[in-house]
Amino acid sequence: MKSVSAHLASDRFVIAVRSLVAIAVFVLASCGGGVATGPTAGSPSFDGAAALAHVETQVAFGPRVPGSSGHAAQLSWMLDQLQPHASDVVADTFSHVTTGGDSLILTNVRARFAPQQSRRIVLLAHWDTRPTSDQAADSADHSIPVPGANDGGSGTAVLLALAPLLAQIAPPVGVDLLFVDGEDYGPGVEDMLLGARHYAETVSDEDRPIYGLLLDMVGDAQPSFPVEQISAQFANPIVQKVWRAAERLGYRDYFPTAVGESLTDDHVPLIENGIPTANMIDFTYGPNNGYWHTPQDTPDKLSAATLDMVGQVVVELIYSGG
Ligand SMILES: [Zn+2]
Repeated sequence: MKSVSAHLASDRFVIAVRSLVAIAVFVLASCGGGVATGPTAGSPSFDGAAALAHVETQVAFGPRVPGSSGHAAQLSWMLDQLQPHASDVVADTFSHVTTGGDSLILTNVRARFAPQQSRRIVLLAHWDTRPTSDQAADSADHSIPVPGANDGGSGTAVLLALAPLLAQIAPPVGVDLLFVDGEDYGPGVEDMLLGARHYAETVSDEDRPIYGLLLDMVGDAQPSFPVEQISAQFANPIVQKVWRAAERLGYRDYFPTAVGESLTDDHVPLIENGIPTANMIDFTYGPNNGYWHTPQDTPDKLSAATLDMVGQVVVELIYSGG
């Protein structure tokens, strides 16, 4: 994910984001109420400790850079995790040649739940990790791959921990868990968001979800999830659903309705292809976001409590009707 909006599809897109954010803030704030009513009856209980264990497993594979042994090990493990629970697990392998001439073999994994439901939502996270620590303070570290505990590991872990719950209690809306590859290869945006772009450009009309929710960097032990700016403009109804679900669970302090940064992330290709998608992201990871894209992105920076909160919000979103 990139912290700048300069690489977005068009200048017009960026201008639209900037000029209309105030409207999004107003709509969200005016519909609040601030009452924590608790979870929807009959919802399953998310297991944050299980999610943290999934983060540790992923980091133990080593960097999950496309082409690496850690990448292959993780793909196999994810399929093993999902197949007992999902009615249908699809591994969609595709290739991409980077601007630097690297040939990448990439795989998106999609696990379907409640396949009979025609009204479907997609929950997505990237499972690959960045090959370079380009934000490290010491330039000698720039060539080191990131461990990807939070950036890659956390969103994947939450989605994997949801799978048994979705199998246990049938959701009232169809749910596709989508693990996208090649989000963070880079260095430039033309060689990023690859799996999300592939999905958004190839999803069939039959499988097309009504909206998406992206989870990225969702495990920081000191969480804060302001509304991401592109989401606020292009997926405001989804933002409202998610942030209200957080409010019902009493997490308003961690899900402020203020609009934060504009982040070019996996939600952008979905939005550009007509699937409104919100990005739940905590871009305050360590002092001055100092753990992002550095060798410091390790599991000790994360907490089961944060993963639990995020998982419960997603559960509430789903079981309140999607
Ligand atoms: Zn990243």
